[in-house]
Amino acid sequence: MTNYRDLTRSELESLAEGFDLPPYRARQLFHAIWKRDFEDIFRITSLPKDLREILSSRGTAHLPDVVRELKSSDGTIKLVLALADGLHIETVLIPERDHMTICVSTQVGCAMGCAFCHTARMGFKRNLSPGEIASQTLVAMKYARLEEKPRNIVFMGMGEPLANLENLIAAIKILTDRIGLDYSPRRITVSTCGLVPELLRMGAEIEVGLAVSLHAADNDTRGRLMPVNRRYPLQELIGALRAYPLAPRRRITFEYLLLAEVNDRPEDARRLIRLLRGIPSKINLIPFNPSDGIPYEEPQAERILAFQKILTEAHYTAIIRKSKGRDIAAACGQLFQGRQTAV
Ligand code: SF4
Repeated sequence: MTNYRDLTRSELESLAEGFDLPPYRARQLFHAIWKRDFEDIFRITSLPKDLREILSSRGTAHLPDVVRELKSSDGTIKLVLALADGLHIETVLIPERDHMTICVSTQVGCAMGCAFCHTARMGFKRNLSPGEIASQTLVAMKYARLEEKPRNIVFMGMGEPLANLENLIAAIKILTDRIGLDYSPRRITVSTCGLVPELLRMGAEIEVGLAVSLHAADNDTRGRLMPVNRRYPLQELIGALRAYPLAPRRRITFEYLLLAEVNDRPEDARRLIRLLRGIPSKINLIPFNPSDGIPYEEPQAERILAFQKILTEAHYTAIIRKSKGRDIAAACGQLFQGRQTAV
């Protein structure tokens, strides 16, 4: 049975045409399920009763169920969602000073095998559909009783977004539709470990913020941390980023997980400077969050500050980001259903 949430507005209009319905009925349905969050099509009273019956018999607007909620002492909320086939994903709401950011998953598990990541240990189960990706925003808003939608969406949850590119693009079209949740593309950031062809395709098709998980500035170290680097080594990745169609005044965010004695030396910082030269960049330095079964350590505070200083003296914006939600395993690289810590 079709879940109408998997369809962009224009796909819903084509579907309506197949049902011999005018396009405005598709618009009404899209508006009702995304702006008003109706799950029960019978409650959409803007549609005539006989039409509601037809739509209900041929499809659904079901949202994933929240099966578990964990709240961190810093206000971060992690939701475990059950999909229609019983698989679980995680969505994280991160409080900022005056707004919320939502971190959304795009796959169940991940095939990329990064050495520092818990999601990698799950292996890859399946891609999320467009509706399953976009719905996480609506579910989190309903569940956390938010009066306003989260201001920013970051695709940094479970999975590699660009390994599910078709569905990612469809989900972004749904999220940015003006008669639905109406997100500005400027409020959306897609994070990738560096899938070069998909990255270029995304840049050609949609305009969103781009974050790249770099984590090392030499192929040897990066190849050990991130197997993707063996497929797309740094020269290729950086070449693609130089060609990436960035909107005016936008920068690429580089995520750099600082691992003690692995990539936190002054020479690593200097290598990073040389690597990113000429790319409009913002660097997020994320001290590693020690975690069971992951063989890395958090660097000492002075090493972190020294690394940052080298970058800022070279005129890079380099911000030290303490992972939020550490006590509920909601921090970067920790999303892994079945591994939640009770609060
Ligand atoms: S860090 Fe991201 S890309 Fe790498 S394994 Fe984890 S979820 Fe996948």
